[in-house]
Amino acid sequence: PCDPQNIAKLCYERFSQLPRRGKPEPGREWTLLAAVLQITRGADSHSVAMEVVSLGTGTKCIGQTAMSPTGDVLNDSHAEVIARRGCIRYLIQELHGAVSGRGSSVFCAADERGKWKLRPGVSFLLFTSHTPCGDASIIPMTDSQPQPCPPVTSVKGHEQTDGGGDLKRKAEESGEVQNSKQPRLEETAEMKEEDRGDTEQCGSLNFNKTSETPSQTSSSADLAQTDGAGLHHQVSDIHRTGAKCVLGGPADPLQPGVRYHSPGVLRVKPGRGEPTLSLSCSDKMARWGVLGFQGALLSHYLQEALYFSTVVVGKCPYDQEVMQRALVTRCACVSDLPAGFSVRPPELLQATLEFPFSQAQTELQHQAGQGRISPCGAAISWCNITEQPLDVTANGYKHGVTKKALGTAKARSLLCKLELFHSFLSLVSATDPSALPNSLRKAELQTYWDYKQASQSYQQAWQQLRSQAFPLWPRSDRNLLLFH
Ligand SMILES: [Zn+2]
Repeated sequence: PCDPQNIAKLCYERFSQLPRRGKPEPGREWTLLAAVLQITRGADSHSVAMEVVSLGTGTKCIGQTAMSPTGDVLNDSHAEVIARRGCIRYLIQELHGAVSGRGSSVFCAADERGKWKLRPGVSFLLFTSHTPCGDASIIPMTDSQPQPCPPVTSVKGHEQTDGGGDLKRKAEESGEVQNSKQPRLEETAEMKEEDRGDTEQCGSLNFNKTSETPSQTSSSADLAQTDGAGLHHQVSDIHRTGAKCVLGGPADPLQPGVRYHSPGVLRVKPGRGEPTLSLSCSDKMARWGVLGFQGALLSHYLQEALYFSTVVVGKCPYDQEVMQRALVTRCACVSDLPAGFSVRPPELLQATLEFPFSQAQTELQHQAGQGRISPCGAAISWCNITEQPLDVTANGYKHGVTKKALGTAKARSLLCKLELFHSFLSLVSATDPSALPNSLRKAELQTYWDYKQASQSYQQAWQQLRSQAFPLWPRSDRNLLLFH
């Protein structure tokens, strides 16, 4: 069921079904795609349903001075972050169903008063079309590969040496993806064999597959690899990331070749222009592996944090060991976590299907006279909810709003802090007072900051993670969180 090809296909297909608004212009603009999939195993575990519950695109992040004290702007619009925030909207809807007695396909009552837990057989998976920015993108290259040029572009060079056959096949595959109309993959008894082994076995199978794919950039095996001509390949360089180290820690040595970057450190989001305070996706994803991806607010309602069982990356420059370091190893030793939290790193897999709107594909399809290739400025969020599932933004606000509308509700993304807070508060008011979780029974809760701080276990877990693994993680400015 967790075959990475199926998952990639399902996500590209979901994307192709969305309306055009906010999508990149083919051949000129590229974007990044990420999605959260809900996986539901039947009681007999013979059937597995996979469904995209949230999808996000986006490549941008606003600068420090554009951050808003009213919580009305979307700071970080990288696809992974958009997909997670859309998933929060979906989870709030499901909790609404649970507390109101309408029921939920995700949650059932837990032992503790006012708390909910995942239904048996339900888990979540994160797909991303690309290696996450920051630490995971510092990928070794061997001397048989083209020189690095940030951001990563080496896939193109590879395709050319492959004689283009792979490419053509891929284009056909992606065409297929776009034409297919299956919104949901149902897998049944035929899958039994692979199914029984559960995620562990599935992972090792796919790991073998990905490490043999010729289109991979490189793996540590290349360090001692001898090719057919008897040439010895060495790691001669690394892919560079524009993501700068956070202040207060070691800086990048910036020496030529493999000593350009410091591996394993926290980084802020890459980008030109004004510096941003948002951390790289590698860092955020590592954090989700300990604190869960549900955030402080939803933790009030949950007996246990929600973890991604698996992270699947689409075809792009990728290195299994570097992914492991960035997303798993850095937090592997964190201990003394409160009840409901544990170190639960995802299994890491790669698919061989490429996103048709990736940077590399866009460069291949680009035609003279089309204008310069650039990242798409808009971010699309779609999630599986009944009211307003689509949210298209640019520069942190609704796409296409006039300057005059800025500051009004009309300009706000449904994913901004303020909107998510308001949906959370409507969940709280929909909860029968006798069924409220203990942590929400204090009268003095008012601001966004208050509600987040009152999520005590979450804050304790964060303190442990910060002190043991990420002491340099910048503290959020309280003055930007006092809205209500
Ligand atoms: Zn990112």
